[in-house]
Amino acid sequence: MSRDTIRLPRDAYRLLQTLRAAGHSAYVVGGCVRDSLLGRLPGDWDICTSARPDQLRAIFHDQRLILTGEKHGTVAVILHGKPYEITTYRLDGSYRDHRHPDSVQFVDDLAADLARRDFTVNAMAYAPGEGIIDLYGGRRDLAAGIVRCVGTPADRFAEDALRILRALRFTAKLGFTLEPATAAAALAARDTLRTVSAERLYTELDGLLLAPGAGKTLAQYGEILGGVVPEILPCIGCTQPGRWHCYDVWQHSAAAVAALDLRGQDTRGVRVLCWATFLHDIAKPQCRTVGPDGAAHFKGHNQRGAQAARTILRRLKAPAYLTDGAVGLIAVHDAPLPADDAGILKLLNRSGAIFLRRLCVLKYADLDAHAATPEVAARRAEVERFACRMDELAKTGCYTMRQLAVNGADLMDAGIPAGPGVGATLQTLLTAVMEGRLPNEKAALLAALEKEGLL
Ligand code: ATP
Ligand code: MG
Repeated sequence: MSRDTIRLPRDAYRLLQTLRAAGHSAYVVGGCVRDSLLGRLPGDWDICTSARPDQLRAIFHDQRLILTGEKHGTVAVILHGKPYEITTYRLDGSYRDHRHPDSVQFVDDLAADLARRDFTVNAMAYAPGEGIIDLYGGRRDLAAGIVRCVGTPADRFAEDALRILRALRFTAKLGFTLEPATAAAALAARDTLRTVSAERLYTELDGLLLAPGAGKTLAQYGEILGGVVPEILPCIGCTQPGRWHCYDVWQHSAAAVAALDLRGQDTRGVRVLCWATFLHDIAKPQCRTVGPDGAAHFKGHNQRGAQAARTILRRLKAPAYLTDGAVGLIAVHDAPLPADDAGILKLLNRSGAIFLRRLCVLKYADLDAHAATPEVAARRAEVERFACRMDELAKTGCYTMRQLAVNGADLMDAGIPAGPGVGATLQTLLTAVMEGRLPNEKAALLAALEKEGLL
């Protein structure tokens, strides 16, 4: 046992002290120990203890508690607005449905509790004065950058299939690789992932895609991920002969995810872009033809990809903003961009600046995962020019009716009768402004009404 110390936040320390003062054993455990040893700031501090849930309730009776997990041994204590999950040492019963333990059994000792945990790097505990409890070589695996099951991998994945996807999520989050026996068992059991609920799969896959090492994990473990998204499998080995590509469809998609530059995006933008990039070429295998010159073509893969992405995201019960956002980007990811102001303004009118900024980020990532040729560089330069002008026009241009220097009331004052004609005329004026045929000035617009016979 090591004497190394971990700096605990004051509230976590207090909780351990309170439990110990009441005669129980208690440790911080799991992700917080792993992250602390890696020098990362843990997201939350989970505690495990010999105290039973009813004892926890009595000990913390004067605190705000969340008791929804009590049946499984978890009581959350809220300190300074932050919940701390305290879980009684437990064994998980059998997993007949590969999903949740049929029962949990509370036990008195930490070792049994650590044995039920998924991976060695997640199965360490710590208490001040005792140091790190590492019964499964978690620190060795942390140092080696390995995700390895506690116990026999096939058995652990048979108990809970979600662990297959969790293993991949941790490789992406930590920049680790799967230990070979863990990888082999994950691949062999990938189809059992279908038995896991959509919500649990979505959460883990989302965590994987948003993690810094997502691209590398996708590149390395596509075959395993095919258990969650079978549409991936035909992409693996789907070659793309021709001048543009240096990867097959799957390696290209993974490289595009790795190339994503998400700076400046909000949370929704980050999520939409990670998923859209992951799925942007998902329909390429079904659209593949080879021309007489031996080059591959993928006509229609934008639209078919958008449909496939919608099916996948609905199946995973992804939030609507994500499904709509990603599907919208995939549907046009490969379409040419206008270079002239009129075209850009009309696109801003139809799609909005947020969408177009995301589209440029997807296009950069897509192009950066192509062969490094002058033609690809030229296409990237086109996107850069578009992005630059689009940003300017988004700030200064007129591309919505609200920005037009006249409104419906002005038109009615000028003699246009109330009714659908007002909107149609505003649209005509807006189009003329976007096309540069009229300045966006009230006098000029009203004068044009008369001149062009719109009144
Ligand atoms: P993160 O920082 O990403 O939240 P974490 O390790 O805290 O990582 P959680 O999902 O919060 O991950 O789970 C907390 C701990 O509970 C894990 O470290 C692991 O010990 C255990 N655990 C969670 N899910 C499982 C599972 N499906 N099977 C076995 N042990 C699990
Ligand atoms: Mg956690």
